[in-house]
Amino acid sequence: MKLTLQTQLLPTSEQAALLEATMRAFNEAANWLAGEAFARKTANKILLQKLCYAELRERFGLSAQMAVRCIAQVCEAYKRDKSKRPQFRPLAAVPYDQRLMSFKGIDRVSLLTLSGRILVPMVMGKYQQERFTAAKGQCDLVLRKDGKWFLLVTVDLPDGTKPPTTDFIGVDLGVANIATDSDGQRYSGNAVEAVRIRQHALRRSLQKAAAGKKRRGLRPKNIRRKLKRLSGKERRFRANENHRIAKSLVAKAKGTGRGIALEDLKGIRARTRFRKAQRARMGGWAFRQLRTFIEYKARLHGVDVVLVSPAYTSQTCAACGHAAKANRPSQAEFRCVVCGHTDHADVNAARNIRSIARAAVNRPKVSEQHQDLLFA
Ligand SMILES: [Zn+2]
Repeated sequence: MKLTLQTQLLPTSEQAALLEATMRAFNEAANWLAGEAFARKTANKILLQKLCYAELRERFGLSAQMAVRCIAQVCEAYKRDKSKRPQFRPLAAVPYDQRLMSFKGIDRVSLLTLSGRILVPMVMGKYQQERFTAAKGQCDLVLRKDGKWFLLVTVDLPDGTKPPTTDFIGVDLGVANIATDSDGQRYSGNAVEAVRIRQHALRRSLQKAAAGKKRRGLRPKNIRRKLKRLSGKERRFRANENHRIAKSLVAKAKGTGRGIALEDLKGIRARTRFRKAQRARMGGWAFRQLRTFIEYKARLHGVDVVLVSPAYTSQTCAACGHAAKANRPSQAEFRCVVCGHTDHADVNAARNIRSIARAAVNRPKVSEQHQDLLFA
C-alpha cells in the first residue's frame, strides 16, 4: 500500500528564494536533459550521465548529487512514455533524496540548494516525524500555488501494514454517561447506576443495623461480612460494565479504521465539571479502570490511542470553538452563547476531544504547540 505524507516547511523569505531558484534550475536542467534523451532515444542513466553530467553541473549550477537525481528523474519520465519528450514545469516538484536533505530534530530540515545547505524550519508532529524518518526513500520538494512549501514522501507499506490513523473516536468520560463518543453514542451508566442505587440503599440499611447492634453492645460481625460482599459485588459489576464499554469502543474504532482519543485523566479529579459530591460518589478507580481497559484492548487490536489535554473540552463549542463557562447551562446541556450550537454536553466534549486529536495528527502546528498530545 502506498501512502503519501506531507509536512509544511516554513522558510524565511531568503530561504524561499533559494529554494525557488534551486527548483527553477533543476527543472530547467531536466527540460534540457529531456531533449537530449529524446534526441538520442535513450533512457539509459549511465549513458546520459556520461554525456550530460558536466553540462548539467556547469550550465545549470547543479551539485553532483542533484545532477544525478536530475538524470534519474528524466530517465524515469522518459521510460514511462517513450513516444514523447518529457516536459518539466518551471516549478515542478524536485526530488530530494537522503544526500540532498536530512531531518535535524523534530522541527528543522537541512536542504541542499544551489548555494549550499540551508536549515529550514518545518511543522511536523511526532507522529509524522516517526513515519517520515522511517521512510528512507526520497522526498519531493513542492511549492504549492498558494506559495506554501511542502515536503512530500511516499511510503510503501508492506501488505497487511496498518495505515496510519488519521481520524479518531473522541471519548468523553462522564458521570451521567460513563462514556460518550464523538459519533454521539452514549454508553449509558443507567444499568450501573440502578445497581449502585439499589446497593447503596442496602448498604445504608446494613450500616444502620450495624450501628444499632453496636449501640446494644453487640458485635456486628455478620453485617460487616455482608457489607464487604456487597462492595465486592458492586466492584465486579462495574468492572464488567467497563469491559463491555471498552470492547464496544475498540470494536467500533477498528471497524471504522479510526483511533481512540481520550482525555488525559491525570487531572480528572481536579476537574471542575465533576462536583465534589459526584466525585466522591464515582471514585477515581472506575474511570482509571475504564481507561486501562480501553488502552489494553486497543493495543491488543492494533488501534491507536491518543491522550489529549482535557483543558476546556467541556466548555468549548465544537461548532465554532468559543470557550466559556456560560456555554454549559446545566450538567447535561451544551448551548453556545456565540453561535447557538446546542448538543448534549458530553457529546460536545467528545467532539472536541476528537478535533484536538485530528488537528494534531493531520494539520500539525509547530512542534512545541501540541506537546499536550501523546501517543499512548
Ligand atoms: Zn459556538
